[in-house]
Amino acid sequence: MLNQVQESGILIRYGRAVEETREVRGRDGEPCAGSVGFVGLGNMGSVLAGNLVGAGHAVVTHDALGAGRSPEGAVHVPGVAEVARRAGVLVLSLPDGAASEQVAHEILAAPGRRVRYVVDTSTVGPAAARSVAGLLAGSGIGYVDAPVSGGVAGARARTLTVMYAGGDEACSAVEGVLAGLSDRRRRVGDRPGMAQALKLANNFLSATTLAATSEAVAFGLAAGLDMATMLDVLNESSGRSAATGDKFPAHVLTGRYAAGFANSLMDKDVRLYLRAVAEQDGPAAIGEVTGAVWERFARAEPGADFTRIFPFVEGS
Ligand code: NAD
Repeated sequence: MLNQVQESGILIRYGRAVEETREVRGRDGEPCAGSVGFVGLGNMGSVLAGNLVGAGHAVVTHDALGAGRSPEGAVHVPGVAEVARRAGVLVLSLPDGAASEQVAHEILAAPGRRVRYVVDTSTVGPAAARSVAGLLAGSGIGYVDAPVSGGVAGARARTLTVMYAGGDEACSAVEGVLAGLSDRRRRVGDRPGMAQALKLANNFLSATTLAATSEAVAFGLAAGLDMATMLDVLNESSGRSAATGDKFPAHVLTGRYAAGFANSLMDKDVRLYLRAVAEQDGPAAIGEVTGAVWERFARAEPGADFTRIFPFVEGS
């Protein structure tokens, strides 16, 4: 029996108990009952749930598509209600705010639920984070807005940035769970929605530099330059970014195009950013151009890896 988690919360490796799973503490330092729940086992969630198992947590998972991507050592259950019945803290990694809201309703309707905190790592935007937080607060469940940046590779390496925001009590109660997700964490605000605002600002920059680098590289290739040489020089010059330093060398130059982030999700993120900017009457001249490029790409090749923006831009 390799790396399995018993209901009792003792981690069993190689057939013997080697460590107690980490306790999560809530109000007044009381331990939260049960395991850590995880809902949404896609490209990002499957790795983050595995990180929690690796950190010694007893993890109970659920995904609408079934147990296929549940990490070894976690217990997969058939519904959100069952996760909510077993877990004191429930982590979400879902496509958008509508999915987070749906799962929040399922948590609230779960008979015998013991969930006291929800940690939402999905990119949902500030308005959805505030709305889900309000919904859960009505039933005494704390919500920590905790989007992530650094991609699937960063999640595997535990270098993913977890930026989070929420009330003091909820943030301190879920500290152990956040530490299980990644080694890089930063509290950026005291209200749900603030971390989402920072995440959207980050993804607007990431979307813009990836699209702009695609145009710049297409221009250089047409001028007779070689892509590897261009990237080497750009990375020693002022045009460097995560696009020139990571996404292009790892996925475009190699032709792998497998960063594990769908163009539809980046399109959603830029749309969320533009919506949030409009709500604040902020400037969006560059955002609108970036948004139009990603919208065209997501429509033309739905679900493609986001690094395929390079051939899309080059061929446009
Ligand atoms: P994904 O589409 O690969 O996975 C989403 C998972 O959620 C799927 O397995 C789906 O079956 C499940 N799901 C959807 N609705 C559900 C429901 N109601 N109940 C249970 N399961 C449900 O997406 P991903 O790439 O893993 O991203 C997840 C979130 O993380 C998104 O909000 C995304 O923007 C964000 N994010 C992703 C990355 C990345 O590199 N992939 C990086 C940073 C942030």
